[in-house]
Amino acid sequence: MTATMMDGKALAARIRAELAEEVRALGGVRLATVLAGDDPASHLYIGMKHRACQEVGIEPVDRKVAEGISQAELLELVDELNADGTVDGILVQSPLPAPLEEPEVFARIDPVKDVDGLNPVNLGRLVAGEGGHRSATPLGVMTLLREYDVPLEGARAVVIGRSVLVGKPMALLLQAANATVTMCHSRTRELAEHLRSADVIVAAVGVPGLVKPGDVKPGAVVVDVGQVRVGDRFVGDVDPGVAAVAALLTPVPGGVGPMTIASLLQNTVQAARYRRGDLALAETPR
Ligand code: NAP
Repeated sequence: MTATMMDGKALAARIRAELAEEVRALGGVRLATVLAGDDPASHLYIGMKHRACQEVGIEPVDRKVAEGISQAELLELVDELNADGTVDGILVQSPLPAPLEEPEVFARIDPVKDVDGLNPVNLGRLVAGEGGHRSATPLGVMTLLREYDVPLEGARAVVIGRSVLVGKPMALLLQAANATVTMCHSRTRELAEHLRSADVIVAAVGVPGLVKPGDVKPGAVVVDVGQVRVGDRFVGDVDPGVAAVAALLTPVPGGVGPMTIASLLQNTVQAARYRRGDLALAETPR
């Protein structure tokens, strides 16, 4: 078997084209991004997000602050953006440099503007099965699975990774789609045994080549969220040999990465619609 590659790049381009129409109809949308410090990877990601915004007509509001900003000053900046009636969405780029405390900062973002879905209100709504902003990466994975008609009803899904950003919301979204979900992490014993029983595997770890061909059931669907820079390229958590066993596989790059950014843009448009009152926070259109 040779896996079909799930083309996140092409699907993301289609989503962006649709969003451009929505943004035009809304008469302008603004996304504020907050970047603290000089981390090169964070600068790269913010640059990619700004370019994607511009492509669909969303105006990025660039708020770069020095690494030495205090927690209180950062919270004040979030308050200012919360109160700014021209700003639809707010994204604080993670990871924040030490000693800044992410949970308090995310909790301060107005849930309506919380396009990363990391505010406890949105996380709680996800747990409760209610509408709200969902974290962009798991949302993008769900969109990709839907695009490729992956049957989730009753399927055995294994999520590797339990971060608040990816693994936990991923597991909850798969469960909401009626998959039977197992969550694995660094303390899981016999990871391979869990993986071999899975119809769908989502690897969100950051350990290149962790998922080996012999760990994957023939015909399984494998989504590789991992993204680790090795030299001048990015590699995922899934050994390339898995392509000979899986039915569907996401490439790295070109799989989950572009879907994450497309989902962030969807969330930003959703925030604009929440703010204009044509969509309630209890509703999630996607
Ligand atoms: P994270 O916060 O570091 O979480 C990694 C998770 O992997 C943790 O739950 C950890 O378990 C688990 N883990 C570590 N080593 C393991 C092992 N040997 N076996 C099984 N589980 C193990 O990372 P994250 O933010 O979730 O991101 C995960 C990966 O996805 C990274 O490579 C990141 O760059 C990538 N990512 C990609 C995108 C994209 O758009 N493509 C977006 C976000 C993240 P413990 O909880 O026990 O420590």
